Amino acid sequence: MDASMMSDRPLVRVEHLRHLYHKGSVSDLLVLDDVNLCLKENEIVALLGRSGSGKSTLLRIISGLLPPSGGNVEIDGKPVSGPASEVAMVFQSFALFPWLSVLENVEIGLEAIGMASDERRARALAAIDLIGLDGFESAYPKELSGGMRQRVGLARALVVHPKVLLMDEPFSALDVLTAETLRTDLLDIWFEGRLPIQSILMVTHNIEEAVLMCDRILVFASNPGHIVAEIKVDLPQPRDRQDPAFRDIVE
Ligand code: ADP
Ligand code: MG
Repeated sequence: MDASMMSDRPLVRVEHLRHLYHKGSVSDLLVLDDVNLCLKENEIVALLGRSGSGKSTLLRIISGLLPPSGGNVEIDGKPVSGPASEVAMVFQSFALFPWLSVLENVEIGLEAIGMASDERRARALAAIDLIGLDGFESAYPKELSGGMRQRVGLARALVVHPKVLLMDEPFSALDVLTAETLRTDLLDIWFEGRLPIQSILMVTHNIEEAVLMCDRILVFASNPGHIVAEIKVDLPQPRDRQDPAFRDIVE
């Protein structure tokens, strides 16, 4: 394969994806039907859709947590057949272990990889520092604000250095100002090239958030879930996203 073909190859490819939930005696629920999408390197893409349209189901399938009823998912050219370190997920409800400290919650992201404990510790501390939690390593989730808990969720995902970061409504449990701060901090480190990832797929039902953060927006319709529109967001300069004039347009 030559270099040009390599660069054209999508990082995530979803083809003809279909998913049914079995409902026991009731008829099965078709949640996703013929979902097709590609995610390239260096892209942040939003998946925008109503609650119940199947967005979380789609992310669970891409992350390998849920086997689909039909269709294909490939990450970097390899079929997904279960959870793998190429993909990491950030959850709306943070999903932290309350009995573990910040450092332990982040390190646990590396446990499955079988890394030596010194290296695990160093990687976890670097992720904690990157996401702005320096000094909170020994704190417990209940001692932290919502925004800081989600920073722990992000650090735990980033610590594995996944190729793709999936975020399922990562800011929707936070108040407006906290969400904005976290979004801005995340974009800053993304544009500085300090995030150890190659692309982000983010679920949201907030159009402003999608426009401010993403290069493309995939609009998801329900019953069954499928993509009905794709919007390109053309903001070449990262600073423009924070520009008050631009913010007036979106608000
Ligand atoms: P979204 O994230 O867009 O809100 P979900 O993927 O969570 O949508 O859910 C899509 C549909 O599938 C909903 O109707 C939901 O009730 C149903 N659903 C989700 N998870 C399950 C499950 N484990 N078993 C059965 N039905 C489910
Ligand atoms: Mg959801």
